[in-house]
Amino acid sequence: MIITACKNCLIPNSKPHIIFKNGVCSACLFHEKKNASKGINWKSRKEEFDKLINVIKKKKIDNYHVLVPVSGGKDSITQVSKVINKDLKVLAVNIDYGIKTEIGKYNLNLIADMGADLMIYKPEQVIHKKLIKNCFSDYGDPDSMSHAMLHAMPIRIAYNLKIPMVFLGENSAEEYSGTKSNKNISQKWFKNYALNLGLDTNIISKKYKIDKKKLQNYELLSNDKLKKVNPVFCSYFFHWSSKRNLEIAKKYGFKTSSKCNEGTFRNYVGLDEKINRIHQYLKLLKFGYGRGSDHASEEIRNKNMTRQYGLKLIKKYDRVNLSNFYINDFIKHINITRKQFFFVMNKFKNYKIWNKNKKKLISKIIYENKKK
Ligand SMILES: [Zn+2]
Repeated sequence: MIITACKNCLIPNSKPHIIFKNGVCSACLFHEKKNASKGINWKSRKEEFDKLINVIKKKKIDNYHVLVPVSGGKDSITQVSKVINKDLKVLAVNIDYGIKTEIGKYNLNLIADMGADLMIYKPEQVIHKKLIKNCFSDYGDPDSMSHAMLHAMPIRIAYNLKIPMVFLGENSAEEYSGTKSNKNISQKWFKNYALNLGLDTNIISKKYKIDKKKLQNYELLSNDKLKKVNPVFCSYFFHWSSKRNLEIAKKYGFKTSSKCNEGTFRNYVGLDEKINRIHQYLKLLKFGYGRGSDHASEEIRNKNMTRQYGLKLIKKYDRVNLSNFYINDFIKHINITRKQFFFVMNKFKNYKIWNKNKKKLISKIIYENKKK
């Protein structure tokens, strides 16, 4: 098995969902279209957004016009900034699925100061922790069901409160895998991109003997019901850029970390919650790339960085060991020992990608394939 990286960015072909054409990944191909002068017409997309807002304003509503799912990161603050000061009643919903950090709590609270009501939803912890623990041990992904819930639950809340629009963040399928998809979230999108590893509630319910009714909030509404809440991606209407979103978020008081976040060179991502770092480290063990690769590739696509410099960064940051700052809280959260934790981490190390018998991880990914 030969694993090579994209000729343009640094994403390896071991990344799930990504397709390569002549050595270039589908995310890079999408970004070419996104940034080209004859590509996506962002002016007309903005007009489409304004029209949508005007239609919603005229609707007789019970309470809120729009619901925005938020993590408290730079992106969610950007989403909220697009719908406030438009004479709309905005409900921001945060799914508290993991272990929040202090800086994360601070940034999340900014959303209420921006002029949106902020609702924090925390799932009952007996089942939720059981799901985190089992998905970690059996599939090497502690975030699998949390990921399902944070896509599904805000939309359920919108449906129950009769809110006519849900303003989602980026279409991750398009932005990071370059997969063709729509402006709305659908059952198909959810199955492919939100349900990591294809774990739906049928499988989970049977395997772990949890009553399926208790897993309802991890399921996306049917396509018919989705139409009533019109869940649209912000990245369809606005040119999505991490750097630009950071600048917008800073205007509202968004705090960054004083140093780079573990596993990457950026100091403004993954600040809000701790379990995601475990998820990202497992991604490195399974597929050979981590957050540094994601972020360097994004910078290269946006022409903020050369490929050569990006490669230097990922060698420095991607493979930084997991620190106790994350491990200690995680094992306490799901009640396992350190030994059990490291047993699972080793179980998911992919030796098609990593050299065996060495303490240090040596990647077998071929990066040095020059662009034609
Ligand atoms: Zn690429």
